[in-house]
This record gives sequence, structure tokens and C-alpha cells, in this order.
Amino acid sequence: VAKPSGAQPLPVLQLVGVRKTFGDFAAVERIDLDIVEGEFLTIVGPSGSGKTTLLRMLAGMEAPSEGNITLRGELINDVPANKRPTCLVFQSLALFPHKTVGENIEFPLKVKNIAPAKRKERALELLRMLRLPESYYGKNVMKCSGGEKQRVALARAFAYDPDVLFFDEPLSALDYKLKKVLEKELKDLHKETGKTFIYITHSLEEAMVMSDRIGVMRAGRLVQVGTPEEIYSRPADRFVSEFVGEVNVIEAVKSSAGEWVAAEGGAPIKLKLPSALTDATKVAVVVRPEFLRFVDKPGAADNAMNGTIYNEYSLGSRIQYQVRVGDKTLLVELSRGNGWKGTLDTPVLVGWDATDAIVVAA
Ligand code: ATP
Repeated sequence: VAKPSGAQPLPVLQLVGVRKTFGDFAAVERIDLDIVEGEFLTIVGPSGSGKTTLLRMLAGMEAPSEGNITLRGELINDVPANKRPTCLVFQSLALFPHKTVGENIEFPLKVKNIAPAKRKERALELLRMLRLPESYYGKNVMKCSGGEKQRVALARAFAYDPDVLFFDEPLSALDYKLKKVLEKELKDLHKETGKTFIYITHSLEEAMVMSDRIGVMRAGRLVQVGTPEEIYSRPADRFVSEFVGEVNVIEAVKSSAGEWVAAEGGAPIKLKLPSALTDATKVAVVVRPEFLRFVDKPGAADNAMNGTIYNEYSLGSRIQYQVRVGDKTLLVELSRGNGWKGTLDTPVLVGWDATDAIVVAA
């Protein structure tokens, strides 16, 4: 669809103050969110944070207790799942076990009374799209492998020709390698079809690989929505920064002289305070392991702390060191072949520059 230049893409789904309670308990707390036409949005969050409940409301399996959900401007709060132009793909796949691959894929077309020849034509097209051999058309679906069943379920979802596809952890039961392959394929399918994909998972890694935007949930709230890069580099708070991979967190407090010092030990800390925290007296300085390095003298980085290396792990192309600094363990990650030749139990200076740290509310 051609859009007027400079105009914002239309939201396909819009949530305004959407809340869901079960008795006194709020599983989802007042969420406002615009989901853009054609985007791949992933909702991540720990177990119990409300992802499934949110998805069930979007898919029409649960009505919100408060707020409005609109689809292309039309209120759909109480429209049931089968009356929405959307389709949900589950982890359990919900395939018809005694039917063939073809019958499974054609089910939505049969419901729509499409003629058998046309149905078969479309099923074969979808098999090709999902990189399954056409010879699978007549195969019993239970004789397919896990990854193949996953592809059949996806083909069936596309047969509905929905505007929006919802995915509820569809890859979580698969082994790591297959998961990686299907992540890339899903991303390709998203590009090929131009459909809106809304995906939930507790695997941030999965979210990072596939999504245009990621929404992070915690205790029923959507705490941050942004591109994978924004979520990683500019986390909204400490929870997001810690959820999004390994981090070193150094707490800093303002001294009576108005300087920032380490809460533990009292060494001065150079930091870049975001404007939102101008009045803070305590902050958390978050430094990712790849932004810490070993320095030979205190002035070689904005900040440097004395420590001792007590463990070393190979991560393949990178090496991670655990360094004891006071009562804390800091993680330092260097690329292999960085030239540093430290050994276990040696005293080291761990340094970082203020611009490489993220400062969030403590
Ligand atoms: P997981 O990753 O474990 O699936 P989730 O982030 O998807 O978790 P939800 O399944 O949405 O979380 O659950 C959020 C909270 O709401 C949980 O505390 C859950 O126990 C509660 N909850 C969900 N459905 C119901 C229900 N029908 N009745 C009562 N409480 C519910």
C-alpha cells in the first residue's frame, strides 16, 4: 500500500489503557501501544509477566477488563477469535493428527468453501513457501519431524490469509539448531509476506534476532518498547538492562561534596547522567561485559577498579573473565586474540569509559 510520504504508518492494532484483571489481581496493567502495519513486534518478559494474557486479548480469546483494542480503527474488544482477521500459532501447533499435510493446510480454505482444485493449488504454493517438498502434500502429518510439523502449522496459518499473525512461543519445544534455522525462516517469511507478526517469547535472544521492535513486560506492565538496538543500548531501567543480557551493575551515590562515588568502597566514578535523573542521589551504572577492559594504569580509562581474575571462560570467538572487585564479581569480555595475556589470580585494573556505561535509576 502506497503511503503519503512523511506520514506515519497506520497502526493496524491499537491498545489504549488495556487492562486485564482476574479477581483482584491485574495480570496486565493499562497498556498503551500502537502496532504498525507490517511490523514484527515481539513481547518478551519473565514467566508470569502477562505476555500470554496480552496476546490472548489481542487474538480475541479473552476480553479486556478495561480499555480498548481497535483493529484498523474498529473496536474489537468483544469480537471472538474466529471473527477476527487474525491467526494464532501455538507452541502445541494444534494440527489434525489423522489428516495429511495437505488436509491440514487446506482446512481454512475448506471452511471458506474454496473449490478443491484451488485449495490444492494454494496448499502446494504454501508448501513451497515454507520450504517443504510438494510430495509432502499426501503425507500423514504425524510422520513429519518436529520442524516439519512447525512448518505445516505455519503454512496453515498463512492459508487463513490473516492480516495479523500471532505466535505464542512456537519454537520453544525445538532443539537449538532447528530453532535457529526457523528463527531466520520466520524473519524471511515476514519479509516475503509483509504481514504483521506479533510474537511472544521469554527468550530475548529469539526476540533480538527476529524483531523490528521489542516490548519488554514486567509484572503486567509494558516497561519499554523499542528496536532491539534501543532495548540493548538504551534500556529504560535496571530491570530491562539486566533482562537484556549479562551486565555489570555498579551502584553510585552522590557524596556530600556533590560528586558521584561507588556505593561500595567510595571510589569516585565518572558518569554521564541522563537528564531524567538530574535529581537522583543514587544511580546504577550498567556496563556490559564487552565494554569493560583491562587497563595498565588508572588514567587509561575514565574509571578503573582494582580486582583479581578468578575465572576464565571461552565463548568461542570471545573470552569472558570473572574478576573479583571488592565483594563484587565483574564480567569482562574480550575478543580472542586481543593481545592481553593475563593469568588467573593476577591483580588487574578493570576500566571503562563513561560513554560506554548506561546510567539508570537505582
Ligand atoms: P509464561 O511465560 O510463564 O507463559 P506469561 O508472561 O505469559 O508467563 P501470563 O500467562 O499472561 O504470563 O500470566 C500472568 C499472570 O496472570 C500470572 O500470574 C498468572 O498466574 C495470571 N493468570 C493468567 N491467566 C489467569 C486466569 N485465567 N485466572 C487467574 N489468573 C491468571
